[in-house]
Amino acid sequence: MNNNTTFMRKRKPKRRVSESRKKNNTGIDVSKFINQGRETVKPKPYQNTHAFEDFNIAPTLLKLIQKKGYKLPSEIQDKAIPHILDSKDIIGVAGTGTGKTAAFLIPLIQNLIQNKRENYALIIAPTRELANQINDEFRSLTYGMGFFSTCLIGGSSVRESLRNLKRKNHVIIGTPGRLQDMSNQRALDYSKFKVLVLDEFDRMLDMGFSKEVQRINDDMRNKEQTLLFSATLDKSQQKLINEINPNPIIIKSERSTQNSDAIDQKVIRANGQDKFLLLRDVLPEPKGPKTILFCETKRHADKLVKKLQIEEFMADAIHGDKSQRQRESTLNRFKKGHINILVATDVVARGIDVSDVELVINYQAPRNHADYVHRIGRTGRAGKMGRAITLID
Ligand code: AMP
Repeated sequence: MNNNTTFMRKRKPKRRVSESRKKNNTGIDVSKFINQGRETVKPKPYQNTHAFEDFNIAPTLLKLIQKKGYKLPSEIQDKAIPHILDSKDIIGVAGTGTGKTAAFLIPLIQNLIQNKRENYALIIAPTRELANQINDEFRSLTYGMGFFSTCLIGGSSVRESLRNLKRKNHVIIGTPGRLQDMSNQRALDYSKFKVLVLDEFDRMLDMGFSKEVQRINDDMRNKEQTLLFSATLDKSQQKLINEINPNPIIIKSERSTQNSDAIDQKVIRANGQDKFLLLRDVLPEPKGPKTILFCETKRHADKLVKKLQIEEFMADAIHGDKSQRQRESTLNRFKKGHINILVATDVVARGIDVSDVELVINYQAPRNHADYVHRIGRTGRAGKMGRAITLID
């Protein structure tokens, strides 16, 4: 487990559990297992070179950016937006939480405002949740402008995808499988699109989509611009990157739109104790705050939901074995507060952008630092405070 804890700086252990919480129904004194949260290593604050007003973007778009509560461009936005506006190809080395979605959407929308073109951009994302989120962000940033988008993802109705493709679309967002399915049915013609956006490229390759991505790129014969975003860049991706995006401007961003101070992080060691009992100690009452519980496998997630439901928690699971409809419905119920515990696996971690999650619990420890950051980044969002607790065997 040391690997997973080395990224956190050690501080003097500090008791955080009230006396009343010590004596609880399980009889476990949780305070014994708690180490005071340690902050992740924080980069120096980013010195912006632009405000949104400096980008020369339309007032209607500026208003919608302000409406979303974005005061200053994030690092990736600050660095990437001028180049994308200038129709340059870029590689953005930036993970989730850096504001990369708006970094490509804002300039693409501005370019659309200047030159309204149907079938302008094709945006490929590895997961359904991410594709939906990009679509949501596109819609909120183009509200009232008369631009249309369609989101093509596996698990949704094929008939609906086909119907949506017959409408006017300025932007198509999709996961590789459904996009290919639509192309095979001749409902989608890649050669019509001018801009290719590949989001979370490393994740896409991890998920085995390299052939699909290559084929889509090959078929985009009239492509004018390529924007590739990846949390990591390594040699194994280089050949494909050279084919897809041979002369990019490379932009790196480590700074997230979130403030890591906003997340109070703790580690609890089970030391042989039953983890579910530990969980019951750290979880507030069944009607507690919005909480995401991370498990390693789908099986574990389902088992945990059952156990929680028996104890009258309003919990449900979201993982790769659930149908798209189930995943969306569970996420919506969580957003609306009809359930307050979402049990999730890493596959869907990146896709969950719910602004009022108060607590993230790593019921099973993440495999690496990146997963840890993605998981805890589900809380402390949108200027709110959050807590993250990692249970260690
Ligand atoms: P992303 O990395 O695109 O998934 O964005 C992560 C989160 O940051 C999302 O909740 C966005 O709404 C938010 N966000 C994006 N740009 C900004 C910004 N300039 N200021 C504050 N929050 C932002």
